[in-house]
Amino acid sequence: MILKIAAAITLVSTLLSFTAGEILARVSSHRGFHLWFFLFLIFFEALLVLAVFERRSPIFGTIFWKGKAGKNLIALTFDDGPNEPFTSQVIDILKGQKIRATFFIVGQNAERFPGSIRQLFDEGHELGNHTWTHEVLPLKTPAQIRDELTRTSDLIEKSTGSRPTLFRSPHGWRNPWVNRVVRECGMVPVAWTLGVWDTDRPGEEEILRRTLDGARDGCVLLLHDGRGLEEGADSSQLVRALPKIIDELRHRGFEFVTLSEMIGAEPK
Ligand SMILES: [Zn+2]
Repeated sequence: MILKIAAAITLVSTLLSFTAGEILARVSSHRGFHLWFFLFLIFFEALLVLAVFERRSPIFGTIFWKGKAGKNLIALTFDDGPNEPFTSQVIDILKGQKIRATFFIVGQNAERFPGSIRQLFDEGHELGNHTWTHEVLPLKTPAQIRDELTRTSDLIEKSTGSRPTLFRSPHGWRNPWVNRVVRECGMVPVAWTLGVWDTDRPGEEEILRRTLDGARDGCVLLLHDGRGLEEGADSSQLVRALPKIIDELRHRGFEFVTLSEMIGAEPK
């Protein structure tokens, strides 16, 4: 979906800039003017698309999206929860495997399942902030972004006594203010290395295949125990794939850490 939106924006803006360039060329007496104007707009739009939609882009501020290789670490991260009964099922699997992971919590979902975030915390998992509404951030003002972050962190702190230190933007999309507001709220902006599109429900075997094909040393793996604000979102495919993912990655020699542990484990 991200690629489609980015492609649509690029196409429309290219057409617009071409038209604007042509109009300006006709009213301008400077012959080379419209070509440079056109090239500048294309370059500017490409940068803008990259800055907003490319989760790893440093254009709107640096972001942690992978650990350095050499330590055989993988961080499992789960977005869009809590979403029962799937969050509890993921907790049970991780408990059986003695793995701690990082869960990026949507505030409105946490409001529906307050017991789940308490359970996550009690089991030693890390809770990150994934906004209150899971709406896309690029069109929001700094004050609206701050509200999304603060409400969610307040709720998590009220339930667990601990305030999140990591923030992940919905879909990884950002605008020029996101990083600044995140840091002002005392958090570190993070993205991910490998997403396997498990919310598309491609089947547990496909989720497993995509994960094993893409997992590397230092990988921040993005999985989902929910799907935006969707009530009762079916995450059963992920739940069925998860034990096999863990078994195979362990077999390959990887150790599982929380995202904060991975960030702290970065060689200086
Ligand atoms: Zn999300």
